Amino acid sequence: MTMLAEAGPLMLLCGLIGLAVGSFLNVVIHRLPVMMEREWAAQCAELRGEPAPVTDRFDLSRPRSRCPGCGHGITAAENIPLLSWLVLKGRCSACARPIGMRYPLVELLTGLLSAACAWQFGATLLLAGSLVFAWALIALTFIDLDTQLLPDSITLPLVWAGLLLNLVGGFTDITSAVTGAMAGYLVLWSVYWAFRLITGKEGMGYGDFKLLAAIGAFLGWQMLPIVILLSSLVGAIVGIAMIALRAHGRDVPIPFGPYLAAAGLLALFFGDTINTAYLGML
Ligand SMILES: [Zn+2]
Repeated sequence: MTMLAEAGPLMLLCGLIGLAVGSFLNVVIHRLPVMMEREWAAQCAELRGEPAPVTDRFDLSRPRSRCPGCGHGITAAENIPLLSWLVLKGRCSACARPIGMRYPLVELLTGLLSAACAWQFGATLLLAGSLVFAWALIALTFIDLDTQLLPDSITLPLVWAGLLLNLVGGFTDITSAVTGAMAGYLVLWSVYWAFRLITGKEGMGYGDFKLLAAIGAFLGWQMLPIVILLSSLVGAIVGIAMIALRAHGRDVPIPFGPYLAAAGLLALFFGDTINTAYLGML
């Protein structure tokens, strides 16, 4: 870990890039599930032999962002991460409809985590790898919270990115990375089937397996026990608290992706420390 004075400029740079990326992640979080639904609708229509439903172009770049209340197009000056929201005091400039806290929070979270990556890894290849890892996990967390989906279009490239990174010298050796990807998938796949055979219910989705495979591909199989332990622990605490507060029905599925993602980030920053401390106790 580098000293703060030395790492300061790099942390600032990465923090600012992170704010801008966070702004883009807001778009991904909001639009990717809609794009997936449209694709499914088109595929269903094709299977039924019907013409695909005609819709306007909708992807990550078009149409441009509008206020859902009055349709006011968001100008470039109103699209500056964090600052615009503060200047506008969280309201649309045309109709004063409140803009969710979620947008600046995602930007701030992405900025802070990006600066933390710069602090931890300095100007190395690991910095690039950790940024990709963190950004993808942030997008997956919020998409899973909103829709209970973990899109293949993010999880699968993340698996390949992790393997590629470790092929050229990343967080771990390539054998540990490949083993991590396979073990990550298989562990949750086994839990899923055991849970399903015993209770007849589905406890989690295939997206969770792919997400843990991606975490294993980035950090190596050695980090999987910590990730599973941390995510189950936090998941159980939040789950029990929500059921106790009656905020959540017992049978309503709680997305597991956000806990896996949070545990993956904790392992990225503190995994070595935790593993060393744990092994030291044996
Ligand atoms: Zn408006």
